Amino acid sequence: MLTIKNLTASIEGKQILNGVSATFEQGKTYALLGPNGEGKSTLGNAIMGRPDITVGDGSEIVFDGKDLTPLSADERARLGIFLSFQNPLPIPGVSVMDLFRMAVLGKDKEMDAMKLHLRVRELAQELSIKDELLKRSLYEGFSGGEKKKVEALQAALLEPRFALFDEIDTGVDVDALKAIVAFLKKHLPEDATLLFITHSHKLLSAIGPDAVLVMKGGKIVKSGGKEVAQEIEEQGFEAL
Ligand code: ADP
Ligand code: MG
Repeated sequence: MLTIKNLTASIEGKQILNGVSATFEQGKTYALLGPNGEGKSTLGNAIMGRPDITVGDGSEIVFDGKDLTPLSADERARLGIFLSFQNPLPIPGVSVMDLFRMAVLGKDKEMDAMKLHLRVRELAQELSIKDELLKRSLYEGFSGGEKKKVEALQAALLEPRFALFDEIDTGVDVDALKAIVAFLKKHLPEDATLLFITHSHKLLSAIGPDAVLVMKGGKIVKSGGKEVAQEIEEQGFEAL
């Protein structure tokens, strides 16, 4: 359902992705591993369509037969693509509930403000997110765990078809991580394709990916089953 071919991308004139090719099938779960600074987040942002990423000529990102490269991030979101950020940035003056309103009400014609409010409170409770947090300025002074729980809640609300989680485990304690994984498993659509970028072997064993990809030097250098993650846990990335 999502096919990437020969994707090159640069930020501020610096080339970061050097020809990524990968296929992500409907309903499958993928893990993307790799050393720091090798282009994993850039790949996520390129799929989502972040405007400061320049995609090179000849690159293909095709989602359900549709070429995504000319589309804005907003248009891609409307097609069902979702990205949970590695480092969500604070937005002063916009509350968590405002974000959900903006994200959901434009997309889902069946949902009105009251229904959304109730749904958010119900989901927030499952993640032990306090009501008070929903009214606060988005991500301002949030703990690592609070940020990632809000990202998970947003994913559940949007019911994406392709969801990418960029280090959803970072800054999250073991109990919160368990809660987040259980929550995502319960609430994401069963036929959604999931891609987890992570360094956490705890997360990997909790999600049980169908396939593992490894990125190095802005390319996918290895792919395979769970044994690839095991190999890396034992030998590190150096051997690749
Ligand atoms: P990873 O997620 O694998 O750790 P990233 O995709 O975040 O790696 O970064 C890949 C490379 O791109 C790094 O060298 C990083 O410094 C660089 N990079 C990322 N964002 C920017 C930016 N906005 N401006 C310049 N360089 C960037
Ligand atoms: Mg990253």
